Amino acid sequence: MPEPAPDAVVVGSGPNGLAAAIELARAGRSVSVLEGESTLGGGCRSAELTLPGFIHDTCSTVQSLALASPFLRRLPLAEHGLELVHPEVPLAHPLDDGSAVILQRSVERTASSLGADGGAYRRLFGPLVGDADALLEELLGPLRVPRHPLVLSRFGPAAVRSAVGLGRSRFEGERARALLAGCCAHSMLSLRTPASAAFGLVLALSAHHVGWPVARGGAQRLADALASYLRSLGGQIETERRVESLAELPSGAVKLLDVTPRQLLRLAGPALPPVYRRRLGRFRYGPGVFKVDWALDGPIPWKAAEAGRAGTVHIGGRLEEIAVAEEQVTNGEHPERPFVLLVQASRFDSTRAPEGRETAWAYCHVPSSSRKDMTEAIEAQVERFAPGFRDRIVARSTMDTAEVERRNPNYVGGDINGGVQDLRQLFTRPVARAVPYATPVPGLFICSSSTPPGGGVHGMCGFHAARAALRSAPLTS
Ligand SMILES: Cc1cc2nc3c(=O)[nH]c(=O)nc-3n(C[C@H](O)[C@H](O)[C@H](O)COP(=O)(O)OP(=O)(O)OC[C@H]3O[C@@H](n4cnc5c(N)ncnc54)[C@H](O)[C@@H]3O)c2cc1C
Repeated sequence: MPEPAPDAVVVGSGPNGLAAAIELARAGRSVSVLEGESTLGGGCRSAELTLPGFIHDTCSTVQSLALASPFLRRLPLAEHGLELVHPEVPLAHPLDDGSAVILQRSVERTASSLGADGGAYRRLFGPLVGDADALLEELLGPLRVPRHPLVLSRFGPAAVRSAVGLGRSRFEGERARALLAGCCAHSMLSLRTPASAAFGLVLALSAHHVGWPVARGGAQRLADALASYLRSLGGQIETERRVESLAELPSGAVKLLDVTPRQLLRLAGPALPPVYRRRLGRFRYGPGVFKVDWALDGPIPWKAAEAGRAGTVHIGGRLEEIAVAEEQVTNGEHPERPFVLLVQASRFDSTRAPEGRETAWAYCHVPSSSRKDMTEAIEAQVERFAPGFRDRIVARSTMDTAEVERRNPNYVGGDINGGVQDLRQLFTRPVARAVPYATPVPGLFICSSSTPPGGGVHGMCGFHAARAALRSAPLTS
């Protein structure tokens, strides 16, 4: 007897695909996840990219959004093998004078290291951290009538500013400005764009609220814990099952696709009404990343010793320098001195490297689909704040935007956020619709980071897509 079709099929096992499948299974629906690659997890995968015994995360490492996520944080992932490890401090931002600005868990301690800007820092982040849970619930979802309007009204005025505007208006000194700019540069927007401050505020807030932990053993452990929990609920997962067309999927099953608009167009093509197809075709992808993974024969020799206490290090110097680098990327150029995001997870998770050795990764932003090798530019930036760094490199693995996309087709042109996250496209992703997760085709949903609230390992796109699917026929019947 052929097996009956599941109630729902999820295509793609990234954090959003797995979150969607879990929410459906928790609601009592049978669900099957189909993953094109041989390992599951999408942006939560680990592999020995350089040498045996060196575990590298191919994409995400810092799991602050997972820990802050209103959905993921309530799942029993520790029972399924997930252990989060906190670096001594979340973030360091070295400067050319040999010092480093340190973002600590405590707003107070961070503020008191910022000299004259301490008060302004306290006034900016103190109230936000007090409201963090309510604020994250508002921000990590689709646009809707706010449940906590007062909390949003405290966040909004600062969040809609550009990073440069907010930094210059709130802070006088270069230390606080640089710290803010580094967090905002995760947005992959020009730091002069309205609302480029929002990303940085949320990331810094998450560092104060829950920390910036890493999964012991690698990001893969987070994906494995989600998968294990899903299986315990009866869900099924098949790897090496790339779906090329919706016609391959059981006709009676509701379909949730952990893919971006370009792939949705390919998979669903003629089934989608022409107007919706045209709107998907206008979806904007952002710049890409160039990433380097290193196997090192010891810790990175930071000039500022405090930088060694941080899990993440933002390299790019002063706000002005970071702003210029990011502006160049949005203009299609390759900065000579790029803004570099570096993570040194093995400092705090010794399972990632053989004894006495270390791993680290770094990436910088590059124009969409760039093929330029940025290894030299990235390593020169690290060397600037950690002289002798190159001598520690035992092996390296690099990925340009094409390789990033080859490993995961969701990273179109190297864009790791599933599309530009500016004001115009933050809540209207993939298109402006009352329920952005639904498509005009009954029973067909999109659940990737190309839906609100966008990029990052929080699973909230998947969660909201599953809720939308559960409200629709045939899952209501
Ligand atoms: C270098 C890098 C560093 C990052 N660092 C962080 C970080 O530290 N913290 C953080 O929160 N986020 C980080 N991110 C972003 C984060 O990884 C993504 O935002 C997140 O993984 C998006 O989840 P998703 O489920 O929407 O898609 P993905 O995780 O991209 O998963 C999509 C999955 O669908 C599969 N798939 C696609 N098409 C098909 C098909 N046709 N058939 C079958 N399967 C298919 C893919 O193989 C993939 O497994 C990083 C990303 C990168 C690339």
